[in-house]
Amino acid sequence: MNKDLKRPETDAMQPARRRFLSGVAASVILIPLSSIVTMRMAQAADLPHLSPSDPTAVALSYVEDATASKSPTYQKGSACDGCALYQGDRTAAWGPCAVFPGKDVAAKGWCTSFVKMS
Ligand code: SF4
Repeated sequence: MNKDLKRPETDAMQPARRRFLSGVAASVILIPLSSIVTMRMAQAADLPHLSPSDPTAVALSYVEDATASKSPTYQKGSACDGCALYQGDRTAAWGPCAVFPGKDVAAKGWCTSFVKMS
C-alpha cells in the first residue's frame, strides 16, 4: 500500500476534525459557564433583601445607606459595591454577600465586615 496516496486524504480531514473538536471543547466550557451565570442572575433576582433589623445585620452594624452609618469603624466612601465580600453585579442596586447567605444586601450599604477590594 502506498502511504503517499493516503496522506492527502488524512490531511484534508484535519481542519474539519479540528473545527469539530474546537466546537465540542467550546461547548463543554461555555454551556456550564452560561448555566452558572444564569443561575447566579436568577439567585440574585430571587433573594430577599437583608433587613437592617436582622440579628446578624444588627451585630455587624449593617445599614442600607453607608453614609448613614454611625459605626466608628466606617470610613467615608466605603460601601458594599466596593467590598471584596460582595458577590453581586456591582452596577446593580442589590446583590448577594458572603456574610449574609440567602439575602441580598444594598450595593450602597455597609457593615463592619467590610473588606476593601484590592
Ligand atoms: S460584608 Fe461587605 S458586602 Fe457584605 S454587607 Fe458587609 S460591607 Fe456589604
